[in-house]
Amino acid sequence: MDNCIFCKIVRGEVPSRKVYEDELVYAFHDINPVAPVHFMLIPKAHVASMAQLEAEHEPVMGRIMALAARLARQEGSSEGFRVIVNTGRIGRQDVMHVHVHVIGGTEVLPPMLVRR
Ligand code: AMP
Ligand code: ZN
Repeated sequence: MDNCIFCKIVRGEVPSRKVYEDELVYAFHDINPVAPVHFMLIPKAHVASMAQLEAEHEPVMGRIMALAARLARQEGSSEGFRVIVNTGRIGRQDVMHVHVHVIGGTEVLPPMLVRR
């Protein structure tokens, strides 16, 4: 995808602070972190959102899930973390290349969502 910011990060056309890379997955620190540990894992191949995932994406999405804990520990979130995948308009997804946020650190996080 020519104009996708996360595809540009994968191609090295936009700088990022890399956390991890293999042939299927790229992980990098969020530019605007909401906690001391905040990075994202993405498939290198463009998929717009979790709503577009198909059976063909199972290997990469499974790998992302299996990597999350190891990378969270590596980044200093050894006692747990939170995974968020904002999806579509309702999920308030801003960047339309599927990404798995991993959020943590040493302080206990606030509640998952604010009740209203
Ligand atoms: P979402 O609202 O789930 O689509 O989250 C998109 C995330 O991407 C936000 O947390 C942004 O801070 C982050 N982000 C946007 N552009 C960049 C970038 N160039 N490098 C790193 N993180 C980015
Ligand atoms: Zn993309």
